[in-house]
Amino acid sequence: MLKYYNYDIVFAEIPKEVTLAINITNCPNRCVGCHSAYLQEDIGVVLDETELRRIVDMYSKDITCVCFMGGDAEPEAVEQLAWFVRKQFPSLKTAWYSGKAVLSDKISATSFQYIKLGGYDASKGPLNNPNTNQRLYSVDASGEFTDITQLFWKK
Ligand code: SF4
Repeated sequence: MLKYYNYDIVFAEIPKEVTLAINITNCPNRCVGCHSAYLQEDIGVVLDETELRRIVDMYSKDITCVCFMGGDAEPEAVEQLAWFVRKQFPSLKTAWYSGKAVLSDKISATSFQYIKLGGYDASKGPLNNPNTNQRLYSVDASGEFTDITQLFWKK
């Protein structure tokens, strides 16, 4: 069962999109130097379709994308919610920030228009650091990945 701690409207996480970013808890990754250790705890509000609709309904006219931040413990549940957004809010894109180095083989990449992969390595920094190990990809309808990480580095 997915739970989330909070959410926010953000402009930097997905370039060129206004994104509703939902911070999912119970993260199974144990990145050394984790920047949000509270997200490793099993805390927060259950994130099911009813709750997701409630949140997205509030902001759907102001955003262009819904991004699930985490959820690596239950990739299929994240995918299911992504499809819920795509069906109920067809004008919105879907994104997933996974902390895994490779995409879970339990889901299809085509469930998202954007996928971020890679755990947090404090020595390499986040996506806006040119030395980062993380990557943000756009995903087309056939499931082909295009690395767009460099968009974080342009001024
Ligand atoms: S993916 Fe890594 S940095 Fe992000 S919440 Fe989980 S342990 Fe922390």
